[in-house]
Amino acid sequence: MVVPGATIDNLLRENERHPPPEWFRRHASWRDDRVYVAAAEDPDAFWAKQAERLHWFRRWDRVLDWDPPFARWFVGGKINASYNCLDRHVRSNRRHKAALVWEGEPGETQTLTYDRLWREVMRFANVLKALGVKPGDRVTMYMPMIPELPIAILACARIGAIHSVIFGGFSAKSIRDRVEDADSAVIVTADAGYRRGNLVPLKRTVDEAIADVPIVKHVVVYRRANVDVPMHAARDVWWHEAMAMADAWCDPEPMDATDPLFILYTSGTTGKPKGVVHGTGGYLVGVATTAKHVFDLRDEDLFWCTADIGWVTGHSYVVYGPLANGATVFMYEGAPDHPQPDRWWSIIERHGITILYTAPTAIRAFMRAGDEWPAKHDLASLRLLGTVGEPINPEAWRWYHRAIGGGRCPVVDTWWQTETGMILITPLPGLTTLKPGSATRPFPGVSAAIVDDAGNPVPPNKGGSLVITRPWPAMLQTLYGDPERYTQVYWSRVPGRYFTGDGARVDEDGYFWLMGRIDDVINCAGHRIGTMELESALVSHPKVAEAAVVGRPHEVKGQVCVAYVVLKRGEEASEFLEANLKDHVRREIGAIATPEDVYICDRLPKTRSGKIMRRVMRALVSGQDIGDTTTLEDPGAVEEVRRWLATVEGRDA
Ligand code: ATP
Ligand code: MG
Repeated sequence: MVVPGATIDNLLRENERHPPPEWFRRHASWRDDRVYVAAAEDPDAFWAKQAERLHWFRRWDRVLDWDPPFARWFVGGKINASYNCLDRHVRSNRRHKAALVWEGEPGETQTLTYDRLWREVMRFANVLKALGVKPGDRVTMYMPMIPELPIAILACARIGAIHSVIFGGFSAKSIRDRVEDADSAVIVTADAGYRRGNLVPLKRTVDEAIADVPIVKHVVVYRRANVDVPMHAARDVWWHEAMAMADAWCDPEPMDATDPLFILYTSGTTGKPKGVVHGTGGYLVGVATTAKHVFDLRDEDLFWCTADIGWVTGHSYVVYGPLANGATVFMYEGAPDHPQPDRWWSIIERHGITILYTAPTAIRAFMRAGDEWPAKHDLASLRLLGTVGEPINPEAWRWYHRAIGGGRCPVVDTWWQTETGMILITPLPGLTTLKPGSATRPFPGVSAAIVDDAGNPVPPNKGGSLVITRPWPAMLQTLYGDPERYTQVYWSRVPGRYFTGDGARVDEDGYFWLMGRIDDVINCAGHRIGTMELESALVSHPKVAEAAVVGRPHEVKGQVCVAYVVLKRGEEASEFLEANLKDHVRREIGAIATPEDVYICDRLPKTRSGKIMRRVMRALVSGQDIGDTTTLEDPGAVEEVRRWLATVEGRDA
């Protein structure tokens, strides 16, 4: 049981500091601390100033209407997201600059200039119109990471249709649930995509998903891999045939700033995915501003955000944020370890990537594979690194900084969510002194706080719930078709504050440290322990690549900690090592946190976006039902945990 007013214990201390390198600071877009002060004094004026950078068909009347829990940004403004990502640049000296540089998994490459991308988008917008798509209609995309995905997205935005992108790794059942929830009559897909040398049968999966879903009237199929797929005469159309017949010109639809731009379902780490709805004007201001200043984006950069466009990170920092800034975006179709674990490092070397933005799960996988892979390549073009998706353990941070960034590149650890739309807590690389493992401070114009279970602010270095205390421009508008759930999930736990569901603490310098999900906090002998610190302690052991810690019910202590550990390549599991790891945690953070059991395994249960699903492990070790598993990447990992539990029970008996 949670004690009212309880906070989370803080067990781990990191003392390392990395001030911005002088060569970086000198040219950075923001390098003066006063930007925080000015934004805090008048956040609305700050966001209005950021909005000036975009093109508005009609200027807004009011920056923000706040009728809790519903925020409306740039009320009265008329804007079009595709116009801002394309036409604005086509009318400037960026017209023939590269917008997208793409590499397919088999190795082919393609570059689309802004001019070319704009023309493709206009044509595809006409294809959608010809299929009957109108402003406000929902269009689903289930695509590989190919340029046609951003083309389809921007085409929707152009005509005011709402896109709902589903990650190409989801099953037929997941597609069906999302298509029905969004009530979407058109789906855009491809015959297949490449993944780790195999073909992913996208069209076939769509066919299975919608076999008896009459709301779907049309499926547009892009021919990516030249595989034979059945085409249903009245329903299915080939992308290339429809494009050949479509008009070249399509005017952008002037949308209300508050009109929805897209629906996106969350990763499902904590349960059933939620259909997050984002608006147009506020969202675009939020992602354009953060893309520009968190990544210090410039015209000469080649920016690579490795996230699939099926996740919010891809929406905001592959498509809308960078393109709204006229940047050049790099996109890769396939698996990071295909054909070898150095594919990414080879890409960086061959294309001259300057900014890399990726997830801790990928960093830990590369760490596990070993230093020899990045060492084979010249990564000197990189000037900035970023991470998002999970807390990054200081050990993984240091590896990323050293083995990939050559010790020279700042690392921006960016905290945000599908719901927040834009990065909210992050360093600014030209002015923030970094501490490995901390996402540092709220972005200018954003206010966050840590509160206890009663909603009261907690003192420095006490852990509690992370809340956002004021609306921000890219804030979700609602959950699709379910405003009650929206109110209940985000606005009822701490009245008047946006509840993130994450635990965090603020240190004596005002830096935020994410401690893991509130639902995952372990209650052990009167202590409340976040998962992050224990896992970090485990990952700081030289043989450990990855760790997940969960609580198991215990008669006396309430709960005890159980640790799952994945070793680095070449390391051997043994009972001796298990004991050694317990000692290691005891030394690093103390006796209360020492895991009762350490289990060395090959893999951890993760979502398809690569996040550790502690709720599944927790349910397993507590003997409960594991709940919704449609977002689980690899059911085999769950079976492995089950087998281990069976052997442990045998051992104890
Ligand atoms: P669901 O909400 O369906 O359970 P999810 O929370 O995993 O899924 P996302 O919106 O993709 O869905 O992930 C946002 C979450 O990811 C955050 O709430 C936080 O827990 C975690 N996260 C993202 N970036 C960071 C970061 N830099 N540091 C710590 N945690 C992060
Ligand atoms: Mg979430």
